[in-house]
Amino acid sequence: METVFSGIQPSGELHLGNYLGAVRNWVELQGRYRCFYCIVDYHAITQPYDPNAMPARVRAMAVQLLACGIDPEKSTLFVQSAVPEHTELAWALSAVAPFGELGRMTQFKDKSEHQPDNINAGLFMYPVLQAADVLLYGATRVPVGEDQRQHLELAREIVRRFNARFGETFAEPQPLFSTTPKILGLDGQAKMSKSLGNTIALAESEAAIWDKLRTAATDPARVKRTDPGTPEKCNIYTLHKFFSSAERQAEVHAGCTSAGIGCIECKRWLNEGVKADLARIRERAAALEADPARVDRILAEGAARARAVAVETMQRVRARLGLPAAPSSSRARWPWRRWAAAAATTARAPRPPCARSSRRRAPAIGPPSTAASARSRARASTPCSRPRARPAAPTSSVPRTSSPSAGSRPPGSRRGRASFTATTPRPRWRSTRPAATARRSAP
Ligand code: SF4
Repeated sequence: METVFSGIQPSGELHLGNYLGAVRNWVELQGRYRCFYCIVDYHAITQPYDPNAMPARVRAMAVQLLACGIDPEKSTLFVQSAVPEHTELAWALSAVAPFGELGRMTQFKDKSEHQPDNINAGLFMYPVLQAADVLLYGATRVPVGEDQRQHLELAREIVRRFNARFGETFAEPQPLFSTTPKILGLDGQAKMSKSLGNTIALAESEAAIWDKLRTAATDPARVKRTDPGTPEKCNIYTLHKFFSSAERQAEVHAGCTSAGIGCIECKRWLNEGVKADLARIRERAAALEADPARVDRILAEGAARARAVAVETMQRVRARLGLPAAPSSSRARWPWRRWAAAAATTARAPRPPCARSSRRRAPAIGPPSTAASARSRARASTPCSRPRARPAAPTSSVPRTSSPSAGSRPPGSRRGRASFTATTPRPRWRSTRPAATARRSAP
């Protein structure tokens, strides 16, 4: 089965353009491909943003993707920064990425225009990180729109250069064009985009959606009610193709071209379809928002699955580059990593319990009713990674068993401290001070 990779920025809200242009297609691909869907927070930080709002944006995006139909049983849904190999591979790829072509990327030029005060190197390297996203999972198919075609071409060029220099390592990813027509914004001019303020968010209320639809641009030829229009030139008709039945679409087409219906009537019909479709998504989203632990668990399990593949790829890449294998200290310490570790322990075979593991606290995952059992499972199966070597108490001269407290320790006292205190004289840290003082005061 071929692998598909696609990512979406945690913009905080999914709008009709994202939903119709990408996410619905992702849902359809789930049965046919091995899908990796990623919330690309590392890409998002190349634009101005509020760091405090980022966790909520990530979670909101996860909720909406799941509500739209991304099935964690069929796909791997995860957050990009939970898999540090993304940035690691991006750096490796940057050694072969063509500088000149990066500067010619249309998106880099557009974004540089939109944020002239923040033209950062991350914007420039954005396509390299995208190439790393795809190649890390050996994705051979990438769902792209026209605006992403240039970046995919660059990724293919990077693959060719890497393979030529370091040996056959990656397969060239191929585009997976969707048949979805371009979804314009409410202004009917440009692609629906949050930055242009021409969107309808899936989470908006029905009244707010109708307000926006009512005033949305239509075919400019329909100035008066009696003017016939051309539905193919109207974004409202494009939206009918997603939300209305075939009969209703035919009705709209005939009514528009003959001026038999007005634009408000046409939009009301569209609004009915939008309401019905989004109501289902809203219902699922509300259930997920009420159970954030479930969303965390899904992301953690996704990150664990993704990381297993990513680590393997990076080992191959390191070998090709002549670099040593990744040290174990490269483990991420972000909360996602902790969640991923917790999810992974539930999937591992049980190991002998560690006596010291009772000090470890597994993060609460799963629904509240099962959180306690998840913690106890994690405690039972998590190997203790703390260094065991406390500084050995200098008890060599006096056997521990000779400690007066060994057999008669008062309840609640700590074993280590009691035996240390009872058998060992405390180091005399202050003993050198008088000598030092004496030296300083010497003439
Ligand atoms: S009738 Fe409908 S399809 Fe025709 S221009 Fe008006 S809104 Fe667009």
